[in-house]
Amino acid sequence: MIPAFDTHAHLQDEAFAADLEAVVRRMAEAKVGGAVVCGYDAASNVAALDLASRFPPLFPAVGYHPHEAKDVTPSLLAELESLASLPAVVAVGEIGLDFYRNHSPHDRQREVLDAQLAIALRLGKPVSVHSRAAEEEIFEHLAAYSRASSWRPGGRPIGVMHCFGGASEQARRYVDIGFLVSLACTLTYPRNHAARTIAEDLPLESLVVETDSPYLPPQDRRGARNEPANVCRAIESLAALRGISVGAAASATTVNALGLFGVNLPAEVALR
Ligand SMILES: [Zn+2]
Repeated sequence: MIPAFDTHAHLQDEAFAADLEAVVRRMAEAKVGGAVVCGYDAASNVAALDLASRFPPLFPAVGYHPHEAKDVTPSLLAELESLASLPAVVAVGEIGLDFYRNHSPHDRQREVLDAQLAIALRLGKPVSVHSRAAEEEIFEHLAAYSRASSWRPGGRPIGVMHCFGGASEQARRYVDIGFLVSLACTLTYPRNHAARTIAEDLPLESLVVETDSPYLPPQDRRGARNEPANVCRAIESLAALRGISVGAAASATTVNALGLFGVNLPAEVALR
């Protein structure tokens, strides 16, 4: 049986400082074969690389979160590009636009997003995209990146919309320009009709799952710290909504994720 794969987690967060080994062990026990550790600022990018070098099921992604955009300088972007060029790094992310919390001016967020999309394009690596209250605004940026990538239907995905919060019709537009759509454990929240509609409507080939640990725990753990083992709750919801087995939902989303990031699971995980 193919294990599950968590496409977006922040295991370098201080919430995991005391017991990361136990967290990674619980991934294995829950048959979660891998997780992408996404950076969001200079320190968390380096930490993502460090964790991935110590724990084989973890894969690093590096990028500047839109909240950080106001502090991102040209020299930080140059450092980011050299980190992102390391073979271990599977994606540029998380990057994006956040017009909900507005920690950085919108213009600056757009500039830093475009600079990081250009880095991904130069390196031929996919992007992990955060979009909050900006599902329409971010489309023009990602569509330009898609055109510059010369992406064609059926080609390898060029990015993933992490914890996508828009409507099903919006999600489809991103699929049409080469993106996968990631469903989080928020799929288990009773009032999250938008995510459930996406889970039901989109082609299975365009869906992956994530935890966004330590954030967004599943319904049965509201208020607690989230961790990659819980990605199974999102997969169970996806399977129930689509009327397929949990195993089929796990293998489909893992195959999609491995194709996106261009990686294989570590041998000891894949064979278990
Ligand atoms: Zn995140």
